[in-house]
Amino acid sequence: MDHITCPVCGNPSKLKFKLKFNIYKCPTCGLYTSDAGFDFSFKSSLEEGPREIGLKQLRFDNFETIVKALEEAKPGQITGLEIGTGNGWWLKVCQDGGIDCIGIEPETSHQAYHKANRLNVRYGFYPEVDVKTKNGYDFIIFNDVFEHIKDIDELLSALKADLADDGVLVINLPMSDGFFYRTAILLNRFGISSFLTRMWQFNFHSPHMNYFNQKNLKMLLTKHGFKNTADMALKSVNFSTVKERISSDSSVNKFKAGVLTSGIALLKPVIESSKPDTRVFFFIKE
Ligand SMILES: [Zn+2]
Repeated sequence: MDHITCPVCGNPSKLKFKLKFNIYKCPTCGLYTSDAGFDFSFKSSLEEGPREIGLKQLRFDNFETIVKALEEAKPGQITGLEIGTGNGWWLKVCQDGGIDCIGIEPETSHQAYHKANRLNVRYGFYPEVDVKTKNGYDFIIFNDVFEHIKDIDELLSALKADLADDGVLVINLPMSDGFFYRTAILLNRFGISSFLTRMWQFNFHSPHMNYFNQKNLKMLLTKHGFKNTADMALKSVNFSTVKERISSDSSVNKFKAGVLTSGIALLKPVIESSKPDTRVFFFIKE
């Protein structure tokens, strides 16, 4: 196929890159969409150990930023739902901060951590897993998950029903106008496609389906009757742990990992002066 329908604005989205999966770009709203599928075997080229060291501090810092903003938006006792809990770190930060949040997660690979920390996790896919509450949730959050979901229209209808009338929808995701994504596109033009493949997580069992920017994400949510109340940049790379992040990808050999690590360290000033790679958005129902 040389084009598909853009899931945000409905215009034809043109074939832009042919990697393991095709990537399309909408000339109207700028959304990038892939035709990747979800691999239910749950096997990917990812080693959990080193990845965990690289990401943990960064994620905890970002989650604390989000918790602070959420507490300002909704003072008092609040109840939340996290879709795609993964390792359970968001639920852990909520638990430490006295916020009541339950999680939904299709995989059971982090079950030991969930159990050890007494985190409230239901296993399965949203919205099939029944997590209904009487008046809806005060907040529903996606942490690096929203970009993995194929049918975003169906998802947003379900979310609207599960969110309280004055609830907050929080979406934290990577940006297509951030430094890393733009660098990956540039490298792909020079014939190096591995970075772009990595950005889309095409070698992982749950690749990205869409890559948003500020404008098209807000357009999508507006279409579904949500209003953007705030958005802010999050930290995306902690240079002290960049080596662990790169070496956690088993498809990158040790030599290449070393070269990449030094390359990224050299680019540090450039990265810090460009657009944020990760942002968090807050929406309420209109
Ligand atoms: Zn579009």
